[in-house]
Amino acid sequence: MLESAGIRTAEDLLKYGPFRYEDRSNFRRIRDLSSEEEVVIRGVITVSGNYATPRRGMKIFEMSVRDETGSVSAKFFNQPYLSRVFKEGKEIVLFGTPRYDSYTGALAFLNPETELVGSEGDSAVHTGRIVPVYRKIGQISARQLRQILWNLVTALPDALKETLPSELVKRWKFPSLRDAITMLHFPEVPGGGDRNQFLEDLSRSATPAQRRFIFEEFFLFQLGLLLVRKKVESAPKNHSIRITDRARERIKSILPFHPTAAQKKVLKEIVSDMVSPRVMSRLLQGDVGSGKTIVALQAIVLAIESGYQTALMAPTELLAEQHFRNIKRYLEGTPYRVAFLSGSVKGKARKAVLVEVEEGNTDLLIGTHALIQGKVKFRSLAFVVIDEQHRFGVIQRSKLMEKGDLPDTLVMTATPIPRSLALTVYGDLSVSILDELPPGRQPVKTVVKNENSRSEVYGSILQQLKEGRQVYIVYPLVEESEKLDLKAAVEMADQLQSTLFVNYNVGLLHGRMKPDEKDELMKRFLSGDLHVLVSTTVIEVGIDVPNATVMVIEHAERFGLSQLHQLRGRIGRGGHAGLCVLMVDKVRTKEAYGRLDIMRKTSDGFRIAEKDLEIRGPGDFIGTKQSGVPQFIFGNIVRDRKLLELARQEAERHLARVGENREHLAALFGIMDRWRSKYGLYVVG
Ligand code: ADP
Ligand code: MG
Repeated sequence: MLESAGIRTAEDLLKYGPFRYEDRSNFRRIRDLSSEEEVVIRGVITVSGNYATPRRGMKIFEMSVRDETGSVSAKFFNQPYLSRVFKEGKEIVLFGTPRYDSYTGALAFLNPETELVGSEGDSAVHTGRIVPVYRKIGQISARQLRQILWNLVTALPDALKETLPSELVKRWKFPSLRDAITMLHFPEVPGGGDRNQFLEDLSRSATPAQRRFIFEEFFLFQLGLLLVRKKVESAPKNHSIRITDRARERIKSILPFHPTAAQKKVLKEIVSDMVSPRVMSRLLQGDVGSGKTIVALQAIVLAIESGYQTALMAPTELLAEQHFRNIKRYLEGTPYRVAFLSGSVKGKARKAVLVEVEEGNTDLLIGTHALIQGKVKFRSLAFVVIDEQHRFGVIQRSKLMEKGDLPDTLVMTATPIPRSLALTVYGDLSVSILDELPPGRQPVKTVVKNENSRSEVYGSILQQLKEGRQVYIVYPLVEESEKLDLKAAVEMADQLQSTLFVNYNVGLLHGRMKPDEKDELMKRFLSGDLHVLVSTTVIEVGIDVPNATVMVIEHAERFGLSQLHQLRGRIGRGGHAGLCVLMVDKVRTKEAYGRLDIMRKTSDGFRIAEKDLEIRGPGDFIGTKQSGVPQFIFGNIVRDRKLLELARQEAERHLARVGENREHLAALFGIMDRWRSKYGLYVVG
């Protein structure tokens, strides 16, 4: 059973930390119970039995537990077998929050956690102390696990070989490995320490022992990332990029505007990577609208001028097509051959593209993840750009790289990645940041409204339409209710067209449409023929229509903050001020206000992302299972971001100091093997 949970060695088991602790030296007296407070009590079962509720026939097991001060009852739903375990006369510990029972009016526990107090030497392990509570593994109960770990921990030798470099243990005053293990599993309030404070620290994973394990985990992880990066960076390229006068000319000539200082700086960083003999892996972060595309294109031109093929991959058909259209326009005066590939390019057309790419006639291939399919073969792919990287798994990233012979890679994202996450997910990449928007951008005003203000909102829309502007109305599509939502969006578009906006053209864009229908619609919106675009979130990433100034987001409470930020980034792109209306559910207005407040207050994508990460946690934030956010055992990259930063610094320092020392490196690579097996080989390289 342990093995099925990935626990094969004593070390694995020792790293199976409790998910919480209970202070069982401090039982609440039953007489002193109050509602809505989490407590542990201990007593003897006096009465117990099963019965069914009269109306719905739900099975309830109920028992009464008594200590010296009184009795309290505990109820369990649909677990009749409990009557075989919790027999009268047995001593038991209950953990939970008592509430007033609506039938009897007395305090009762509903489905509390339970543990029978056995006879054998229990006091030391299961009660009378702060006890660890483990998640059950298969049939092994929390209590059995506690016993197993007690046996293991007490049997360990007094000294263990350190797994952290000793200077780190010293510098940060971490407990030794041996002490940390004991304190992790069977913590004791330190001499002279404050009990409540200590319990509080335990619950926040902030005791020295917990911090040590968190640090150690992060440190190994960062070391691994840095080693991967070192390996990638030190891999010699098999191609060489040269800056010629002609290349310089071309790079300049494709620019329809003056680049911002940030664009220049970032391009410089990218180019210096490209001309270096080492392979580039760089992340370009820039808020929506900061102008990443043109920077990428300049780098693409440089690679083409050096005689190589290039590729640009985007996460959606719509976005890939937009890139294709725009880039073809930018490259009009050049001899470069640009091709497009996606799932919707089929039959003969597809064959033709594949042949041209394989023969090396295509200089730049733009497309969706169709680019990474087996049939796509390049002749000399040396530079790869991946747009909106957070939409792709890391695996897709590496697949595209494999299409070339160690191509230089630039990944771009407009979802500002909070540093803590960037360190874990992109720790193997160098980072460039576009921290300046092109000039002339107007601020976007954001308001939160509910149904009561709908006519007022439509009034503002009409005003903007009169002034010649265009409008987005966005509907969320939630998977469970996709059909209903889609219906709502369709109805809204119809209704708006036939009533309020009779003088304007309303279009509807949604994910179920065929690519060429979407394309057609987007073209109409771009050309100004469509005035109002009702859409599901397919417009989320990258779409660029400078004349659109209003964005109304329906059911804004259903979106994540980063997503809202992305959506809002679609407006305020031209010379006109923008308005973003977040429509929220009437019932949940207050709650939504609280969460969405940051949207009103700031347009700083990084701050919004930090907040989003805090609220939703890293998994949801990135949005895809294979996004490469590792599952840490002890650490939580949001809660423990300071330790993560520290681990990063220490890993860098350690690696710098160890340098080329072979013995040390061998030891580190040993660590890395452990690391790989733990986190999977999700990093490229
Ligand atoms: P993102 O970084 O979100 O991908 P884009 O590359 O789509 O942004 O650029 C957003 C818009 O800004 C585009 O219309 C682009 O033409 C324009 N743009 C980019 N750089 C500049 C600049 N330096 N000056 C003026 N407009 C720019
Ligand atoms: Mg973009």
